[in-house]
Amino acid sequence: MEYISNDQLKLLIQIQEKDSYISEIVDKQKTIPDILASIKGNLDKAQAELSNANQEYDKASKDRRDLEGELKSTEDKIRKLKERIPEIKKNTEYHALLKEITVFEKEKSDIEEKILILLEKLDTLKDVKSKEEHTVKEEETKFLEKKGKIEADFNHLSNNLKELESQKASLSALIDTKILAEYNRLIHTRRGLAVVSIQNEHCLGCHIRIPPQIFSEIRKNDKIISCLSCQRILYWKPA
Ligand SMILES: [Zn+2]
Repeated sequence: MEYISNDQLKLLIQIQEKDSYISEIVDKQKTIPDILASIKGNLDKAQAELSNANQEYDKASKDRRDLEGELKSTEDKIRKLKERIPEIKKNTEYHALLKEITVFEKEKSDIEEKILILLEKLDTLKDVKSKEEHTVKEEETKFLEKKGKIEADFNHLSNNLKELESQKASLSALIDTKILAEYNRLIHTRRGLAVVSIQNEHCLGCHIRIPPQIFSEIRKNDKIISCLSCQRILYWKPA
């Protein structure tokens, strides 16, 4: 037990208050990246869906180009076969040629039907694409709005932090260096809590019961009395 003036104990209590606020703010700031990641979830999902829609649309467009190529080559074959008609003399050759043309005409009509189906699909995919683009824009706006608020909160907390640090520095300058060193040691070894009040004759740091004789000493609030169990500095706060 070390006798100190009432002012020194008051200062310690105030410094502890500042430190508790500081660690609260630091903890809050640490959660911000997770909060940002969680509010980005909807935007990420919308972007992934848009990318899928784009891929599907591009694939269907490529299929359409391929089929149009096939259609052109089939049409060329039919045209070349038809060009041969005037040169044909024999009836059997003529029928064979017509049969060949019919096969390619059927092929041509199959390709045309496939192209029609694909054109309908492309229309639908185009709608899906523009719907997803719209969703992405909406989610982007929402995300940026929330992000802006979170960043403003973060800046507000940072300003509070600076203010608290400077108040703590001013208070610390008034404290006896040995007492301050002990305080800092406890802050680091006792999870940020070096000075605690007692409640119902119990230490609020470790909840052990304070013996009656020590309790009456603590009530005077005029010396540093450490908890026998957790070594935190104890003080009396009248209800
Ligand atoms: Zn204790």
